[in-house]
Amino acid sequence: MRYAILSDIHSNLEALTAVLDELTTQRIDRYLCVGDLIGYGANPQECLARLQELEAVTVAGNHEWGCLGKLTLQWFNDAARQAIEWTRDHLGFTELDYLRRLPLIATEDSCTLVHGTLHHPERFEYLMEVAQAADSAKACRTLYCFVGHTHVPFVFEYDTARRGLRRLLSRPKELENVSVGGSPAERRYVVNPGSVGQPRDGDPRACYALLDTDAQQLSVHRVPYDVQAAQRKIREAELPELLAERLAVGR
Ligand code: ZN
Repeated sequence: MRYAILSDIHSNLEALTAVLDELTTQRIDRYLCVGDLIGYGANPQECLARLQELEAVTVAGNHEWGCLGKLTLQWFNDAARQAIEWTRDHLGFTELDYLRRLPLIATEDSCTLVHGTLHHPERFEYLMEVAQAADSAKACRTLYCFVGHTHVPFVFEYDTARRGLRRLLSRPKELENVSVGGSPAERRYVVNPGSVGQPRDGDPRACYALLDTDAQQLSVHRVPYDVQAAQRKIREAELPELLAERLAVGR
């Protein structure tokens, strides 16, 4: 099976379109989406429609929960809160219903999806430490656990027998072609595919991951997109200026 894994699209239609255009040449069997489809950008409806067309296996992120009132807006910074309120005003009944039906955890064959951490999915914690990755790996019953939320790509390989870190890959070169074989009894992989619509690792290009379970290979890809068009729409929508500015620098 060949999976495309997308996370943190954040209503950025230009970035999502560039990624999906590139993926048309990649013989993808299944699309997986690790949450935060909406918030920040100016095209929530269009992004939701594209993901529904693809029948992507999708989990809810904190922005979905904020939009649905399942998470208090005090949880968010000012710009995020304004974007969530704007998004809520621009979604219809059927779109909100779609968001309401998204689970916190989804499993598809050898892949488990969760936005924050697998051991505390409802807390939407930022997975930034080895100990958190190890706790999520322990809680995982499949070979692969995909997370999002930090907008920074990495691959964490957990040694099940030794109950500890085996490899942590985060540099762009290291993520180009990672061999990810084995069985969950021996090892597990916790993977952040980076952010499609608002990268925060200093590279403004859209980011996604590909997993080929037959070849046991995973790769993280970057795609340039029309950042200025996405910025223009954010400004026209009168969303916070910060949300437009940060797209140009990937921070
Ligand atoms: Zn996000």
